[in-house]
Amino acid sequence: MLPVIALVGRPNVGKSTLFNVLTRSRDALVADLPGLTRDRIYGYGKVGPIPYLVVDTGGLVAEAEGIEQLMAKQTLKAIEEADRVLFILDSREGCTPSDQFVAQTLRRLGKDVVVVVNKAEGVESATAGADFHQLGLGEPLAISAAHGNGIKGLIDRALEGF
Ligand code: GDP
Ligand code: MG
Repeated sequence: MLPVIALVGRPNVGKSTLFNVLTRSRDALVADLPGLTRDRIYGYGKVGPIPYLVVDTGGLVAEAEGIEQLMAKQTLKAIEEADRVLFILDSREGCTPSDQFVAQTLRRLGKDVVVVVNKAEGVESATAGADFHQLGLGEPLAISAAHGNGIKGLIDRALEGF
């Protein structure tokens, strides 16, 4: 069984961008279907030595209604099924009440979480992470999904123990 990594966070933090980076593959089948890969929620990936499955999720928002509520339900299911959860945050916005809401949800579910501070290109890692220690979910890891920075370290951390 491949380890399953879920990408979780409020909308617009870069989950889907990171999904595309983590599932980029030399596998012809995937490479030939870029459109499909982009739209798929589950993807296969291999950045380091260990292959994994990665699950993109819709953004988790407080007081979700309608479609948001359906997305929240699917997201909770993805979290429950995951071996590791990557909690994605936006270094430019800092820690917001919406992030606190997601943190609360993750704490309640008691999963292994890696705090991932995205959009940190051009910023010192320690500076990017500083505002997110208050989440109480561990040492933040700074990355830039768009620029491909910190991806190897992220996967190493996410797959520790596998
Ligand atoms: P999602 O809603 O969490 O899935 O976020 P998306 O992946 O759709 O990204 C939301 C926006 O953030 C898009 O405009 C992305 O281009 C942008 N974005 C994602 N990753 C980065 C990054 O590392 N740096 C910057 N500057 N922008 C990013
Ligand atoms: Mg998305």
